[in-house]
Amino acid sequence: MARTATALIKLSAIKQNYLYAKSLAKPAKAVATIKANAYGHGAVKVAKELADIVDAFSVACIEEAIELREAGITQPIILLEGFFTVDELDYISNNNLWTAVHNQFQIDAIKNANFEQPINVWLKMDSGMHRLGFLPDEYADAWSQLNALSQVASITHMTHFSSADDLSSSITQQQTDLFIATVADLPGDISIANSSAVLSNAMPNRSQWVRPGIMLYGSSPINDPALSKALMPAMTVKAKIISERTIDKGESVGYNAKWTAPDVHKIGTISIGYADGYPRQAVNGTPVWINGKKSQILGRVSMDMAMVDLSMFADQDCLGLEVELWGDNVAVNDVAECADTISYTLFCGLSRRISKQYVK
Ligand SMILES: *Cc1c(COP(=O)(O)O)cnc(C)c1O
Repeated sequence: MARTATALIKLSAIKQNYLYAKSLAKPAKAVATIKANAYGHGAVKVAKELADIVDAFSVACIEEAIELREAGITQPIILLEGFFTVDELDYISNNNLWTAVHNQFQIDAIKNANFEQPINVWLKMDSGMHRLGFLPDEYADAWSQLNALSQVASITHMTHFSSADDLSSSITQQQTDLFIATVADLPGDISIANSSAVLSNAMPNRSQWVRPGIMLYGSSPINDPALSKALMPAMTVKAKIISERTIDKGESVGYNAKWTAPDVHKIGTISIGYADGYPRQAVNGTPVWINGKKSQILGRVSMDMAMVDLSMFADQDCLGLEVELWGDNVAVNDVAECADTISYTLFCGLSRRISKQYVK
C-alpha cells in the first residue's frame, strides 16, 4: 500500500451503539438505518455485524435492499421512500421488503398488483416536515384503502421529525401530538423516532419502533455532550504526513494564501483532500490529531492534500507520521462544525479513493 488515506471501521462500536439505542427505546424495537451504504460505513458489513441482534434494517430504495439480500441478509428491510415504479412490487413481495407508502400512486399500484405474498406497509404521515406522506386529513382514508386490500399484511404508522436535533424547538411536540391524534383510532404499530428523538427520549409511549441512523455510527445530531457520551465512534479517518517544511514569518500556505505564518513555523502536508471526502470548507484551525498531539488544518484543503500545523513537533522528523482527521481523538462533530456541515455529510461523502479497513 502506498498512499495512506484510510477509513478504519470498528464494527463492534456500531453493534454497541445499536444496543444502546435499543436500551434507550425499550421496549420498542429498533430499525437499524443503513441507507446510503450505512452512512458510508459499508452496508453489507454493517448488516452482517448486526444480523443476529437487529429487529429490522432500513434503506432508502430497492437497489440498496437488493444489495443486502444478495449478500445473504435475511432480516426485514424497510424501504423508507417505498417503491418508485410498479415493477418493484414483485421483488418487494418475494423478498420480505417492507415498504413505506407515502402517496396515492403507491396505494393504487398495490391495489392493482397480484403478487402472492401480502406485504407489510409503513404508511407515512406528513406531520409537519412537508417532505413525504399523507397530510393528517388524508391519512385515515389512505389507511382504510390499504386496510381493505388482501395484498397488504400489516400497516405500521410512521412519521418523521423535522427538528428533533433542536431541543429548544416546540415543533417535535407539535408533530408528535398531531400524529398521535391522527392515528388514535387506527390499529397498528407506530414509529416516529430518529436518532435525535431516541437520544433525547422524545418518544410517545405508544411507539413500537424507533429508527436510529447516525447514532449507530457514534455521532450525535444533538449538540449536548451529556447525550452523546455513551456513543462510540465507529469510523477513524487517517492520512500521513508526506512532506514537511519550515516557513518564514509572513509566508502563506496553500491555494489563495488563506493562512499566513505569524512566526517561523513548521508545517506539514498530508495525504488526504476533498477528492477523498475531507471537506474543502474546513477552516484554518479545524482539529486533527498527530502522533498523540492535537494539531490543526492550516490553509485551504486541496483536492489530494491538505496542510497541517507541525509547530508542536519543531525538533522532530515528521515524515510518515499518522494523522487522524476524525475518529477516537477528533470528534467528527467538531470537524463538521468547522466545515459548516454535519457529520452525516462527512460520513456519506467519503470517496472510493479512501480504502476501508474493518476491525472487530
Ligand atoms: C434517515 C432516516 C432516519 C434516521 O435518521 P437519523 O437522524 O440518522 O437517526 C429515520 N427515519 C427516516 C424516515 C429516515 O429517512
